[in-house]
Amino acid sequence: MGSSPEGVGGALIDTTKRLEPVSDSPRLDAELLVAHALGVSREAMILRHLGDPVPEDLEALVARRLAHEPVAYITGRRAFWTIELAVGPGVLIPRPDSETLIEAAIEYFGARAPARILDLGTGPGTLLLAALAEWPEAQGLGVDASNVALDYARRNAAALGMAARAGFQHGDWGRGIEARFDLILANPPYIGTQEGLPEQVRLHEPGSALFAGADGLDDYRRIIPDLRRLLAPGGGAVLEIGWTQAEPVSAIARNGGFAVTLYKDLGERPRALLLT
Ligand code: GLN
Repeated sequence: MGSSPEGVGGALIDTTKRLEPVSDSPRLDAELLVAHALGVSREAMILRHLGDPVPEDLEALVARRLAHEPVAYITGRRAFWTIELAVGPGVLIPRPDSETLIEAAIEYFGARAPARILDLGTGPGTLLLAALAEWPEAQGLGVDASNVALDYARRNAAALGMAARAGFQHGDWGRGIEARFDLILANPPYIGTQEGLPEQVRLHEPGSALFAGADGLDDYRRIIPDLRRLLAPGGGAVLEIGWTQAEPVSAIARNGGFAVTLYKDLGERPRALLLT
């Protein structure tokens, strides 16, 4: 017989190998799934549980991942910026790329702090709750067209102790909103209808949060015309973009009378536009 470690340590090695064909991050996925099956944090697992017996539930979780289900749907949680969010089928999973928007907002406000924050297409509350964590005096409104997403967002706000500072409402981007905001955040759908996506995204995440017409720009055309009306004096709006979309979205924004600043993500790709 081989000399591989047994128990949890061995399961991590074995699971990593099995996930290689379906994942870009098989070791991380294996750690998150095994820790979830054990009911402990990843850190606690590495420190204290490598010699434990393999949890019985692990095999079912690995089977779901092998069917391309995202790890965040299997564990029900995803870390974003300084917070952790509950997520599940029907909501877009927070991406590290979207942290670029929070960084851009922090840079724009500097020593100031936005008092009122609007998140258009909030999903599970991702950008709004990360911003409220950053600015503890701020109040915010999250809007989404999906009631499934709004349920997650409200639960996340409550779990983070932010329910009194975060309101959520069903809506169609900025339509019907009367208030003005110092900071507006939005990660709209921006994938072109014909564009390919990894199976874990295409098969499992909500198309309504991903696709935006033939060129992926439909929702920018709907969002940007409302922004001037929704921004308070001195305010700024930060929009996530696909990495090839800096020019066309900037053009829509300039036509709407905005000055535009581009921000890149950690992979050095265009990822966010600040409109002022
Ligand atoms: N960045 C996401 C992806 O590549 C897309 C999110 C979006 O369309 N807003 O899957």
